[in-house]
Amino acid sequence: MATPNQASRTGGPHRVVVVGGGFGGLQAVLKLRRLAVEVTLVDRRNFHLFQPLTYQVATGALSPGEIAYPLRAIFKHNRNVHVLMAEVDDFDLKARELQLSPAAGVPAPRRIPYDTLIVSGGSRYSYFGHDEWSNHAAEVKSLESALTVRNRLLSAFEAAEWESDPERRAALLTFVVVGAGPTGVEMAGQIGELARDTLRADFRRIDPRTARILLVEAADRVLTTFPPSLSVKAARSLAKLGVAVLTQRTVVGVDGEGVTIEHGGSEPERIPSRTVIWAAGVTASGLATRLAELTGAESDRAGRVTAERDLTLPGHPEVFALGDMVRVRDAAGGSTVLPGVAPVAMQQGRYAAKVVRDRLRSRPTQPFRYRDKGNLATIGRGAAVADIKGFRLSGHIAWITWLVVHLWYLVGFQNRLLVLIRWTSSFVTHGRGARLITEPDAEGRGLLLENGPRPPSDA
Ligand SMILES: Cc1cc2nc3c(=O)[nH]c(=O)nc-3n(C[C@H](O)[C@H](O)[C@H](O)COP(=O)(O)OP(=O)(O)OC[C@H]3O[C@@H](n4cnc5c(N)ncnc54)[C@H](O)[C@@H]3O)c2cc1C
Repeated sequence: MATPNQASRTGGPHRVVVVGGGFGGLQAVLKLRRLAVEVTLVDRRNFHLFQPLTYQVATGALSPGEIAYPLRAIFKHNRNVHVLMAEVDDFDLKARELQLSPAAGVPAPRRIPYDTLIVSGGSRYSYFGHDEWSNHAAEVKSLESALTVRNRLLSAFEAAEWESDPERRAALLTFVVVGAGPTGVEMAGQIGELARDTLRADFRRIDPRTARILLVEAADRVLTTFPPSLSVKAARSLAKLGVAVLTQRTVVGVDGEGVTIEHGGSEPERIPSRTVIWAAGVTASGLATRLAELTGAESDRAGRVTAERDLTLPGHPEVFALGDMVRVRDAAGGSTVLPGVAPVAMQQGRYAAKVVRDRLRSRPTQPFRYRDKGNLATIGRGAAVADIKGFRLSGHIAWITWLVVHLWYLVGFQNRLLVLIRWTSSFVTHGRGARLITEPDAEGRGLLLENGPRPPSDA
């Protein structure tokens, strides 16, 4: 198998281009910055986003700036690291170039060359082939969509306060979360806390505690990646927050007025709701599909490209693919889908950087091996579940573990401090300082709902 050039084709330092300043790409660059290589980090955003806490922005517990950090600030002291804000459109693997276009209107070079390419483009939510549902069921993967969810959640309570029709008011106060993985569970739990605790004294005509929060899941339990005993505990904690868990239900329709779900062979059930949040099913970044086409690598139904055991792509030892957008070849020649979590992407990013270093020193590298450090999910104040190397924790101890782990991995000392202060203050005061409705979302469904909120008859 051909090995990548150790020196740059231009005779200068080895040029590594990293696509994606998310969990995988960031770790790769953090490790590469200490080597005698020229690194360019390309992302369509100018910041690293800590996705595990976007749902807290969506529920007003944290502000966007507390979970995002500018990429330039991270690498300001590393002269060999360049940050480039651009959209990656395509790869020219023969010429070893990336094709770019402007992101957010910022001009970008059309092509940039590389000697080694590391791609960690992540994934996005999939709507089971119904992309039109995304107009009505926002997700919380990006900062923008988390803010859309925040606007919709808070606007629903505002509109319900002045809605005189009981059916319309009930639909406004019904919140449906689709998908009971960690994000769906965390989201539903936070809405429960918002309705039952934070907002309970804020309104005069409605009682926010009467809000219905439904968590819809196709499997037979919540948190299917955790042991069943922890699923039971999580479901109990959700029930205490007023969340009704509807398992073995499939969503077959979503529109501006609610969701339609099916349960076994029975008649579809219609649930009127003005706020639906999507936390089910992911599909790999389109960059994975493109790399599979160009290299002949296999891909799976979720669009993940199959990377070799050293995370490179077939016939291209100079191209690494990692994170949410890949599955990895195993020793038996099959392929393994690792969990779609940050530690996998982070370990893979560090591993790819290590392979680059070893190659520059003409040293062999062992295949990538994932070290599973455990699984955590929080449900609400003082409630979480953790499965750490066979130790099953729940309640306060799991919650404190969750807090410490998330603070530890948050990028930037300032953000850690701010989030710690916010969480401490929320714990003491039961408040959420970022409960702001900032602007109407893309559908214009911010403050004014479709036919406008109706004044109460006695007003
Ligand atoms: C709501 C939510 C909650 C989560 N909670 C947890 C959790 O609690 N614990 C946990 O371990 N994991 C959690 N995850 C999963 C974790 O965030 C992902 O596994 C991780 O982000 C994957 O890292 P990545 O590098 O593959 O992709 P990402 O971190 O998504 O990074 C991809 C980067 O590539 C950029 N990009 C993509 N395409 C292009 C392009 N064409 N041009 C330019 N730039 C591009 C994106 O802007 C992004 O910055 C959560 C995910 C979500 C969505």
